[in-house]
Amino acid sequence: MKVGVLSLQGGVIEHVNHLKKLDVEAIEIKKIEDLKSIEGLILPGGESTTIGKLLKDTNLFLPIKSLILSGLPTWGTCAGMILLAKEIENDHRRHFEVMNIKVKRNAFGRQIDSFKSKDIIPKISKEPIELVFIRAPYITEVHNDVEVIHSINNKIVAAKQNNILVTSFHPELTNNLEVHKYFLKMIN
Ligand code: GLN
Repeated sequence: MKVGVLSLQGGVIEHVNHLKKLDVEAIEIKKIEDLKSIEGLILPGGESTTIGKLLKDTNLFLPIKSLILSGLPTWGTCAGMILLAKEIENDHRRHFEVMNIKVKRNAFGRQIDSFKSKDIIPKISKEPIELVFIRAPYITEVHNDVEVIHSINNKIVAAKQNNILVTSFHPELTNNLEVHKYFLKMIN
């Protein structure tokens, strides 16, 4: 199986390494030709404004948007979630606008900029998973076809809409592979 990891900025290599541990061929997506033959796509964490700008500069924006709309399984972690959202509460920028969610950037506030937690996410695994948040967004509204997968203190931090998965946290920064496995099941 070939899974692309958008490789313009941010936490790319950690996703690539997790995919390799699961015997998946990870393709770093830097230009349009790299999109050929991928069966899934990960949009990593980083800075959504920077990645958004680079998507336009590299002309990757439209081909990726049309692949997502045509059903390519796609997972956005953190900044990736912001790129996929139709609405962003505290930013005038919009990116792919393919998922019926409203997100808030840097939503946990300065005081708790980054934190870890541990939780069982029944839809993903029976074992507790370490959740790492870094200047993370959360989802403030969900609309049509969106299934909430996980919340922390009533703040939605994981959700799915058909072929699109989003997480506020970073499973690629832990040793746990369960969320990656869950995404691979969406591809199969
Ligand atoms: N704060 C970043 C943004 O708004 C996201 C942080 C992350 O991806 N770890 O784009």
